[in-house]
Amino acid sequence: MATLFTKIIAREIPAKIIYENDQVCAFLDIHPQAPHHVLIVPKIEIATLNDLTPDNIHYISALFLAAKHIAHDLGVADAGYRVVMNCNKDGGQTVYHLHLHLLAGQELGSFGV
Ligand code: 5GP
Repeated sequence: MATLFTKIIAREIPAKIIYENDQVCAFLDIHPQAPHHVLIVPKIEIATLNDLTPDNIHYISALFLAAKHIAHDLGVADAGYRVVMNCNKDGGQTVYHLHLHLLAGQELGSFGV
């Protein structure tokens, strides 16, 4: 069954898509936690970090390269930004399609638990 993010990539569910290439798609988070909050997702369905294998690991490189490009395009590369990937329930994952959060636009606090 297609994930929520697969439906966004296919334009079946609306989202503000800001970047795309053959491997990844990036769009604005519907509930932003910072002035800039972008979700960067692989165009194949990898559920969690636990599902990475030698065959799909290149998508991690693609996610981080996209984050670098997006941060530059948003004008936040020098000021700084944070990338976060949550894994499973205790990690705060709610959508089971691997994704990188890119947060920027203000000084971000240190991590709490
Ligand atoms: P997770 O908690 O799995 O790491 O992150 C999932 C993210 O997806 C959350 O930040 C949430 O706000 C975002 N999200 C959930 N549903 C939608 C949606 O329909 N559209 C968009 N653009 N973001 C969504």
